[in-house]
Amino acid sequence: MRRGCISIGITQCDGCHRYLGYGERYLVIGEDESNERRLCVACCLKQGNASYKNEEGKETITFFSQEDVQAPWH
Ligand SMILES: [Zn+2]
Repeated sequence: MRRGCISIGITQCDGCHRYLGYGERYLVIGEDESNERRLCVACCLKQGNASYKNEEGKETITFFSQEDVQAPWH
């Protein structure tokens, strides 16, 4: 399971162990709550779980779903 979330408090990234502030986006990966991992945008980009997309002049971040990651996108 993967889902993009927005931090509403202090959330720690399991990749770089940085604390994310209010309003920062992050990705949750895991089968259930017991093995969830939280990754900040920088870690997602590094691991190929997300990409920046330019839409109508506005930069947005897209988190890849499980299906997208399995696709030969790179
Ligand atoms: Zn991180």
